[in-house]
Amino acid sequence: MTTIDSARLAGMFAAIAAAVSADRDRLCALDGIIGDADHGIAMDLGFSAARDAVAALDAAATDPTTLLNTAAKSFLNAVGASSGPLYATAFMRGAAAVKGKTTLDDADAVAMFQAMAKGIQDRGKAEPGEKTMMDAWAPAAQAAGEALASGKGLADSLGAAVQAAKAGAEATKAMIAAKGRASRLGERSLGHMDPGAASAVTVIEAMRVALTG
Ligand code: ADP
Ligand code: MG
Ligand code: MG
Repeated sequence: MTTIDSARLAGMFAAIAAAVSADRDRLCALDGIIGDADHGIAMDLGFSAARDAVAALDAAATDPTTLLNTAAKSFLNAVGASSGPLYATAFMRGAAAVKGKTTLDDADAVAMFQAMAKGIQDRGKAEPGEKTMMDAWAPAAQAAGEALASGKGLADSLGAAVQAAKAGAEATKAMIAAKGRASRLGERSLGHMDPGAASAVTVIEAMRVALTG
């Protein structure tokens, strides 16, 4: 059983920021094919801002909900692209899912993770198959929930989430974009991985390592 406190969550934002920064050029290149080439920049800016904002808090005196809401606000302020409100909503919903807790157990962490995916869904209104980050987040949240329900711990549950996100991101290559900027391309979006689904894999994998490593 893992116990996650605010210091661990602050470390999670540092880990995501590092992973996304290392992935920045690939994400911009993917967005260059079906969007406007800024996705790596947006994610790097957003998670750097979130990392800095939560690092400035006194972790010992900050509950997970406050920390996640701080991350959400700084992400939103830093990012002008459509990923800004989507991830800000994800962290706000994650914050609400763990309200009143000072530490998170495995079930709390999976609940936070699932609430993040639900937040992206509610904010962006993308359905599965519309070639967005939802095509990675939705199966990842489902896989994590199923793994936990079958008695797995957080490491295995987030491991299952990573595998499902990877498969989901891969599957976006065969989809025609129906939401966001890439939808303007119609069938010309076929054959290319959605950048938001690609970055979701990077984010979820960094969360897995930071929360269970
Ligand atoms: P922008 O398109 O404003 O430049 P980004 O490049 O940061 O924003 O993000 C693009 C990604 O955002 C897309 O690849 C897609 O995954 C995601 N996206 C766009 N619109 C939606 C939506 N309505 N719901 C979920 N994800 C979306
Ligand atoms: Mg873009
Ligand atoms: Mg843009």
